[in-house]
Amino acid sequence: MKRRVFVGGLTAAAGLAACARPESSCENGASASTETFEWSCVTSWPPKFPGLGMAVENLAERIERASAGRLKIKVYGGGELVPPFEVFDAVSRGAVEMGHDASYYHKGKVDAAQFFTAIPFGLNYMELNAWIHYGGGLELWRELYEPFDLVPFLCGNTGVQMGGWFNKAIDSIDDLKGLKMRIPGLGGEVLRRAGGTPITLPGAEIFTSLQTGAIDATEWVGPYNDVSFGLHKAAGYYYYPGWQEPGPGLECIINRDAWNTLPPDLQAIVEITCQSITTDMAAEYTNGNANSLQQLLADPDVDVREFPADVLQHLKKIARQVVEEMAATDPAVAKISKPYYEYLAKMEANSRISEKAYLDTRET
Ligand code: CA
Repeated sequence: MKRRVFVGGLTAAAGLAACARPESSCENGASASTETFEWSCVTSWPPKFPGLGMAVENLAERIERASAGRLKIKVYGGGELVPPFEVFDAVSRGAVEMGHDASYYHKGKVDAAQFFTAIPFGLNYMELNAWIHYGGGLELWRELYEPFDLVPFLCGNTGVQMGGWFNKAIDSIDDLKGLKMRIPGLGGEVLRRAGGTPITLPGAEIFTSLQTGAIDATEWVGPYNDVSFGLHKAAGYYYYPGWQEPGPGLECIINRDAWNTLPPDLQAIVEITCQSITTDMAAEYTNGNANSLQQLLADPDVDVREFPADVLQHLKKIARQVVEEMAATDPAVAKISKPYYEYLAKMEANSRISEKAYLDTRET
């Protein structure tokens, strides 16, 4: 089914390209539909925020360009049309046609959705892409969102994140006790069981909360985004790796009725453009993180540190327990977690002798 749509889209796109040349006749082009669509897209990100917010602006711009203006999408930043964490509901009930956010924001409503952003100590960027597009993940995701009248697409990835900013050193498991930290999703639940207090805040409120001491620590993304928020001016310890988000995928969600009104070539343009955003955003973050890390390493007020191994081991054990407990009471989590962890085990064996082995070798 997916393949048929994809091939149809390529044919239609070729037809559009031919129409762009003045000497060509468009009457026999593959794209018979001239109907135009104007959609609204709500997001969880500050408007035009580097990386996250620009990814969805790029999505809208590319779709409009690839469709020769037949599908125009107006993007709203978090809070401009609906609050940052109400994107899922707004698209589900059809108030808007499209949304861009992270599926782990739906924790508490659709717990199983978290597998499609990131699971602590789970799949990284490349592995998540592989699982969703080739390993059966997308089928599970679509089935999960079916009752909400949503069609999901993977649309963006930040790559492995940082563990976050802390106003004190984390030398042992005890240092997590009593820690008030902005950390969403399952990572937050893991912190809670390790003795901390997880808090969910939209991006725009993080800096002030950390600076005023309302929170002791925060994770956000990585050097690229964290520096643009000025988080290095609010706390001095910057820990890695981002165990809580090893390669989070973002989602583009489309209301089912809106999706069904699109002709197949526009559907293909949306699908292909979402994939292009995932690749593009990962490239942007890899570049931006490397640049911003240089700045942080040169900053005498910033201490970039690795979490102690025993702290990571402890958190990893809790992470697995959290998912197992969710699976025991939530059939959707049970259905998705089994193939997810089987895939993860297979990927661990593969990544050990490929990416990890290569990176270790390169540094010796
Ligand atoms: Ca994060």
